[in-house]
Amino acid sequence: MSSNLEDLHIHTNYSDGISSVDEIVQRAASLGLKTIAVADHFWPSLGSRKGGLNLIEQRRHEIEICRNDYVDLKILDAAEVDIQSNGELAPISGGFEQFDLIIGSFHWYTDSTNWASALVQSLRRNEFHILGHWDGYLSSYREEDGRLAAEALAKAGVAIELNGRYSVEHIGFLELAKSYGCSFTLGSDSHDVSTVGDLTFQQRLAASMDLQILQINI
Ligand SMILES: [Zn+2]
Ligand SMILES: [Zn+2]
Repeated sequence: MSSNLEDLHIHTNYSDGISSVDEIVQRAASLGLKTIAVADHFWPSLGSRKGGLNLIEQRRHEIEICRNDYVDLKILDAAEVDIQSNGELAPISGGFEQFDLIIGSFHWYTDSTNWASALVQSLRRNEFHILGHWDGYLSSYREEDGRLAAEALAKAGVAIELNGRYSVEHIGFLELAKSYGCSFTLGSDSHDVSTVGDLTFQQRLAASMDLQILQINI
């Protein structure tokens, strides 16, 4: 029996998801998950026009209420932030430090050469913990670029997300990343409460490739 206990990438109606924090937490608890990350985009990251300190604080307040109501579930206050072509992360009102977890993601299509270059630069900044849907916007893949990326991810200690919404096209990169000692996380990238914890395929992939899934314990 393999049961996943974590879902580290869930959007709420504070960005482009449709479910409330409370609905998501209720669902996660009913599935028996141990840790979830409520991970929203905030303007000017793509994926949401919403942002600003008031919104972020209101959302945090809802998360805190849920933490009190569901003491057996660890609820991380996370943000998904765009990795831009120059390697900088899109800013968030109030900064990154206010969050438990930052997911850095590409939301622009690119070949692997520009991908690796932006990724390596972004990793030097030490601002994020997980690379979200690592190949969701990769239009091509070359192994030498994969090596650069895997080496930099391993060195930075940034985990690679196995994402529930994007299919894995370039599985060779996962082998490479494993050989460099990278760790991996599971994230449904749910935008609707019905897909929270929906990670069967990703779990099977991780098991079949013997990938090390990071258990977040902050
Ligand atoms: Zn994303
Ligand atoms: Zn997302």
